[in-house]
Amino acid sequence: MMEKIPFNKPAYIREAESYLTQALLSAHLAGDGPFTKRSAALLESKTGAKKALLTTSCTHALEMAAILLDLKPGDEVIVPSFTFVSTVNAIVLRGAKPVFIDIRPDTLNFDERRLEKLITPKTKAFFVVHYAGIACEMDMINQIASKYGIHVVEDNAHGLFGSYKGKNLGTFGVLATQSFHETKNVSTGEGGALLVNDLKLEERAEIIREKGTDRSRYFRGQIDKYTWVDIGSSYLPSELIAAVLLAQLEASDQIQAKRTKIWNTYQAQLSGWAEKNGVRLPYVPEYCCHPSHMFYMIMPDFDSRTRFIEWMKSQDITCVFHYLPLHLSTMGRKFGGKEGDCPVTEDISDRLVRLPLFYDLSEKELDRVVDSIKRFSWVK
Ligand SMILES: *Cc1c(COP(=O)(O)O)cnc(C)c1O
Repeated sequence: MMEKIPFNKPAYIREAESYLTQALLSAHLAGDGPFTKRSAALLESKTGAKKALLTTSCTHALEMAAILLDLKPGDEVIVPSFTFVSTVNAIVLRGAKPVFIDIRPDTLNFDERRLEKLITPKTKAFFVVHYAGIACEMDMINQIASKYGIHVVEDNAHGLFGSYKGKNLGTFGVLATQSFHETKNVSTGEGGALLVNDLKLEERAEIIREKGTDRSRYFRGQIDKYTWVDIGSSYLPSELIAAVLLAQLEASDQIQAKRTKIWNTYQAQLSGWAEKNGVRLPYVPEYCCHPSHMFYMIMPDFDSRTRFIEWMKSQDITCVFHYLPLHLSTMGRKFGGKEGDCPVTEDISDRLVRLPLFYDLSEKELDRVVDSIKRFSWVK
């Protein structure tokens, strides 16, 4: 019997045990204690973001971003159809309208060449996603944004530690969001962060995160009592999450080195096979440095992808497809989405498959994945 190779396994970092014990013994279990401060400071220094606020998830950080930009009914936000639902839910929860943009066939990112046609006087923001941690064309996107006075938010769930032309992802938008979900490079099970790059938004971000109160200022001794000053919710994680996060962030060089090695092995071992069989591997522009979040393959068609996933499953290896086009989902159609709106998204979504990539994947397991891929039979 061969061991099953899962698609993902969160990195086990031993240091988390002692941090968790310290947090438990400290009797400070709620948010914004010492572990939150240390994790946020480390995240700021690693990303170069002006301010990092830990949140309960990337989903919640996106909701905070939508509140901070004052999105409201009548506003439009341009967002890729090829993303996780949370990127779009954040917009819809404010009553604003998502306008779906297609992706580039090469990087699978927000296609900036289609952007100006979608802009109207109602466009308030672009929510961009750096798919697989490979950067969107930020020069062009920011240039168009400033021309029209539009804000950019980066959903950087895949892109922590990635960069574009030497500048870190997460520092291009006024706001950026991170995820520490167990499927991400740095993981706390559930968890996230809001990166604030325009410090004019910092104070209000703290208020929204603390149920609409100015409690953070009170704790800093800036005011002598705190009160309800704005809308908000409970977006701060407990110290237990922050303790795990600190251990993960401190180990991030080690996590990243391992993931990069696996990613590069896939690339090196599969490129000849891919070329021979009409399979496309990830495209990385030379000015993009990516954090090895994901290794995907684009199969020739839907049928070969389905058979590939089944074949790998028969070899006890879990490979998975990814986003279904949001503009064609039940909700997306309510916003006017229909077939043909985003042809590249519709095509890629049918053909993309992701390979196992996680910190604990051994060399033997990696060899087994590559070997199984090469033994896939193209004839039915
Ligand atoms: C994982 C992910 C999210 C959601 O992250 P959570 O922390 O689970 O809320 C949002 N956007 C993208 C692109 C993601 O990959």
